[in-house]
Order: sequence, then structure tokens, then C-alpha cells
Amino acid sequence: MNKQLRKVVIAGNWKMNKTRPEAIELINQIKPLADNVSCEIVVCVPYTALETAIQAVKGTNIKVGAQNVHFEKSGAFTGEISADMLKELGVDYVIIGHSERRQYFGETDTTVNKRTKAALQAGLIPIMCVGELLEEREADITEEVVSRQIKLDMAGFTADEVKKTVIAYEPVWAIGTGKTATNEQAGEACGLIRNVIAKLHGKDVADAVTIQYGGSMNAQNAADLLKQEDVDGGLIGGASLKAEDFGIIIKAANT
Ligand code: PEP
Repeated sequence: MNKQLRKVVIAGNWKMNKTRPEAIELINQIKPLADNVSCEIVVCVPYTALETAIQAVKGTNIKVGAQNVHFEKSGAFTGEISADMLKELGVDYVIIGHSERRQYFGETDTTVNKRTKAALQAGLIPIMCVGELLEEREADITEEVVSRQIKLDMAGFTADEVKKTVIAYEPVWAIGTGKTATNEQAGEACGLIRNVIAKLHGKDVADAVTIQYGGSMNAQNAADLLKQEDVDGGLIGGASLKAEDFGIIIKAANT
């Protein structure tokens, strides 16, 4: 496996935080921290702040992402937003299948599969989230759970579609809890995801896929997590709302 072959992506998941003026303020603080770095930097903001964020990042290397997308192209789906609508706005990335959506909003592997396909077809880069629950880790079935998610969430994908998808390994017990996976746990799980992809699509495809770790990544632990061979970046919640901490994580990804 060769880490150099892959794009490193540091993405902030702002969740349901920041009004438009607050989004501008945070992006303005992140801008100088994102100068002259080789990794991809993404801020995934609430729908209401997308257009504002797109304007605010103009002329920088920061990309904007959404936090969900519907799988149909248009129609009677009150409250939903299509991939084409996001693309037309200037959005580049979209988080799909976050554990909070799986837990609170009935997201399943079937809908994750459909949303990810729709995002790819519209030219968006999906950040597709997978990860085990605490009881699954304790029952020693992490490998089985995560392998199943990858197979179902990416069912029917071409090799090219797999390559274009960013996968975020996010153990559910580590999200927003302050409990981070150990460096070894993060590296091992990202490695097993790569192996599943290698079995399905071959080593070249697996070597090209960006696999992030997410789950209480912060300014203190990012450097060691990002050193893991199979960890190609991070999906960061809480720490992405503090420019200084996000900046330290960006720096850690570029050393
Ligand atoms: C997330 O929201 O994807 C996440 C990893 O959150 P946190 O960093 O706060 O655990």
C-alpha cells in the first residue's frame, strides 16, 4: 500500500452550527491557516450557510461541502435537496451516511448507497461514513460490521466511482464523545476497509481511495492518527469549529 498515491482530505463537519455571519467569521479565521498546504481542506456547513461559505472561500484552496443529499433528481420530496442543486450552487463535497443520520433520521445502507451514487453522478465528491457501534466493537465484530457496510454502501459502483469516493471510518462510540480510537484501532480499521475494496476492485483501486478517520480527532491527537499508513485525513466535528485547533490538524496533515 502506498500512502503517497492518495489525496489527503481534512474535512470539518460543522453539523447544525453557525449562522451565515458566524460562518463567514470562522472561514476568515481558517483562511490563513489553509494557505500553501498540499492537503484538501473542506468545510461541510449547514444548507443555509452553503452559498455564503462558497462566496467566503473564493480565491482560497478551501472547498465547501454539504452534510446530506437526496437521491432523487427532483420531485415531491418536501424538505429534501438534490445533488444537482448542490452542484449548481458550487458545492464540491457532501457527507453521506453520518452516524447521526443513521441514528436519528433512519439512514440505512440502502439509502447511503443511493445517495452516494446520486452525488457521484452529479459530480460531487461523497464523504461516505461507516463505523461500528460500541457494542459491536466490544463483541469483536468490527471487521464484519464495517466490511458489510462497505459492500452494501458501495454496491454496484464501478471502479472509477469507488476511486472518487472518500470514505470516513468513524467508530460511532468515538463521535462527539471525546473518546478517540487508538492510533492502532484507527489504522487497523482503515486498513481493513482498504482490503475489502482490494478484494472487490483490485489493489490499484484500493490504493487510490482516500480513507479518513473521524471520531474526536483534535489538535492533540491528529498528528499520530494521521501518521497511520491507511489514514488519509480526517472528518472532524467539534474541533473544526475552533479555527486554531482545525489549523493545527491541517498542519499535522502536511508534515
Ligand atoms: C463527526 O461529526 O463526524 C465527528 C467525528 O465529530 P467529532 O470530531 O466531534 O467526534
